[in-house]
Amino acid sequence: ATKPRKRVVLVTGGGIGIGRATCEAFARAGDHVVVTDVLEKEGRALADKIVGDGWSAEFALLDVCSTQAADALVTRLNEAHGHIDVIVANAGIAHRVPLGELSDEKWDQTFDIDLKGMLRVIRPAVPAMRKAGAGAIVCLSSIMGVAYGWDEHVHYSAAKSGVVGLVRGLAVELAAQGIRVNGVAPGYIRTAQLLSEKHSLGPEGAEKASAFIPMGRLGEPEDIADVIHFLASPAARYLTGQVLTVDGGLLVG
Ligand code: NAD
Repeated sequence: ATKPRKRVVLVTGGGIGIGRATCEAFARAGDHVVVTDVLEKEGRALADKIVGDGWSAEFALLDVCSTQAADALVTRLNEAHGHIDVIVANAGIAHRVPLGELSDEKWDQTFDIDLKGMLRVIRPAVPAMRKAGAGAIVCLSSIMGVAYGWDEHVHYSAAKSGVVGLVRGLAVELAAQGIRVNGVAPGYIRTAQLLSEKHSLGPEGAEKASAFIPMGRLGEPEDIADVIHFLASPAARYLTGQVLTVDGGLLVG
C-alpha cells in the first residue's frame, strides 16, 4: 500500500521562538515541515534536529520581504509536493519606537515584515491550494492588534490590526475553495522578542507582567504552537476568519 501523503507545512520565521515551537508541533504530529527564516543557522539546525528525531523537515532561507524569493520557494514546493497544505505566517519584528522617532522607514519596515510579508507567502500558494480544494492558513497577530494598546508600539499595533483584516478578507475570499484562514493573537510569550531590551517589555518587565496575567505566568511558545496546530487541524474544519486570543486570561482579567 502507498503511504498517505504527509501534509506540507510552511512556517515563516521558524528558526526561533513561537515559529520554532510551531515547527516542532507539526513535525511531531507527522507532517513535513518547511522551516523558513532569515536566521539560516538556527533554521537549519532545527530542521536537522527534527530529522534527527525521526520526523520530516527541510530548511529554506526566506526573507518575507522578498516577493521573488517567496514566489520561487512556493513554486519549488508545489513542484515537489503538488501543493502546500498549511502556511503559518509567523515571521515578525516588534521594535520599541517612541512616536517622535517613528520614521517612515521604521513604519514601513514593520508593515513590510509583519503584514505584507504574510501576503507574499500566501498569494503564490493559493492557486495550488484552490486546485487541491484544501488548505489552512494561520497568521500571527497579537493582543496589541486586537484589543490592547501599548506605548512606543504604534506601528506594531497598526500592523497587527492589519493582520486581523487580512485574515477576515482572505477567509471569505477562499472559503468556498475549502481553504480556511485564521489567526492567533498571543499575549506575553516568553521569546527573544519579548525578553530583548530593544523590543517590547525587556527581561524585568516580563517578570512583572506575570503578576497581572490571571493565569499567573507568561505564555510559553508551545502554548501558542498547540493552538496554531489546532487551527490547522481537521478539528477546526468549520472555523474560519477568526483570530483567537491566547493570553492566559489577560484581556478578560
Ligand atoms: P522572535 O523574535 O522570537 O521570532 C521571530 C522570527 O521571525 C525569527 O525567527 C526571525 O528571524 C523571523 N523574522 C524576522 N524578520 C524576518 C524576515 N524579514 N523574513 C523572515 N523571517 C523573519 O519572535 P516571536 O515572539 O517568536 O514572534 C513570532 C510571532 O508572534 C511574531 O509575528 C510576533 O509579532 C508574534 N507575537 C509574539 C508575542 C510574544 O510575546 N512573543 C506576542 C504577540 C505576538
